[in-house]
Amino acid sequence: MSTAMPDAGSASIAPLAAAGDAGLGAFSYCSQQYRVVFGAGTSARLGEESERLGIKRALVLTTREQQDLGRRLGAGLGDRLAGLYAGARMHTPVEVTNEALGIVESRDIDGLVAIGGGSTVGLGKALSLRTGLPHIAMPTTYAGSEMTPILGETSNGIKTTQQSQDLVPDTVIYDVDLTVSLPPQISAASGLNAIAHAVEALYAPEANPLTSLMAEEGIAALARALPRIMTAPADIGARRDALYGAWLCGVCLGAVGMSLHHKLCHVLGGMFDLPHAETHAVVLPHAAAYNAAAAPNAMARVARALHSADAPQGLFELARQLGLPRALSEIGMPEAGIARAAEMAVRNPYANPRPVERAPIEQLIAAAWRGDVPAPH
Ligand code: NAD
Repeated sequence: MSTAMPDAGSASIAPLAAAGDAGLGAFSYCSQQYRVVFGAGTSARLGEESERLGIKRALVLTTREQQDLGRRLGAGLGDRLAGLYAGARMHTPVEVTNEALGIVESRDIDGLVAIGGGSTVGLGKALSLRTGLPHIAMPTTYAGSEMTPILGETSNGIKTTQQSQDLVPDTVIYDVDLTVSLPPQISAASGLNAIAHAVEALYAPEANPLTSLMAEEGIAALARALPRIMTAPADIGARRDALYGAWLCGVCLGAVGMSLHHKLCHVLGGMFDLPHAETHAVVLPHAAAYNAAAAPNAMARVARALHSADAPQGLFELARQLGLPRALSEIGMPEAGIARAAEMAVRNPYANPRPVERAPIEQLIAAAWRGDVPAPH
């Protein structure tokens, strides 16, 4: 069974200034409560932002790889720094959260500072949910978790997801300088992953003029920044654009529901243990092609943001320009898994502009597996 949804963003399309015109459909818009501090060098404001939240004994969270960064930035907390926990890991394992919770309790911690990508921010969310402590996030990738009320946790290999306003960090310090060390190839894949949030936000059932503005702007900022980052990873202007775009795409992910593309990536990643961001990069042009005819206004906005005549082709071309993998076969998916993945992807109904049907979904996955130029099936 599948669910067809209208192209909900349709009434707010070109020109952008028409957002208040008659013809604009009814919508609801709900914003998250958070404070954003954005710019180059903003991590110097960590002490001041901690003071604002009344934090006196902060625990800094990082991955093992980023512990030196945690130590360096944590020093900015002065005598508000009470400890560093450098055990954050992908998919927020509950045993990691419990270990960190032990430190929170034994050291009388009254605030959390997560410095890193989605894995570290996930740990910050898991701890703040359990303790009610204030949470400052300092993102160093383009994943966008800091903007969402969503937490995915794993326990005994099983992933569960929950949603709560309490998960949104109180303050997000986006320091462009912290993203310069993100290797170009990872920046590209992480950036394409962020673009995927915005593409699906444009045709989400809850799409509204505000999220659509942010989605188009987010895609445009990332699309102009990522090719520059590939050739000049330390270009602060490009890094600023990319982080700005990632912020906007993260807001979209937190504000509206995702559809076919995210479902496919979830299924493929889970079944074949594929790399998360690269899977997004490969599937996105094909998911866009699948939905293109059913979401023409969303596609027009994506194409406009990419300066391309066609959204799926523009996304495919961007991935090519960034040197990202373009076939699921390149990133470890077995050909024998195509039919099984299609079966899983249509098992539960979810909102999507075009009905999600078994035969064309299998063709989509097969095309993505081979690395074909995207075409509607
Ligand atoms: P990550 O946080 O796992 O980081 C990947 C690796 O890159 C880590 O080793 C990290 O230390 C390193 N790294 C991070 N920033 C760096 C930098 N600037 N320079 C050098 N190395 C750096 O990766 P991610 O893609 O940011 O996050 C993925 C995780 O986030 C997944 O678990 C995913 O499910 C989750 N996520 C959750 C949401 C949500 O809304 N809940 C949204 C997006 C992602």
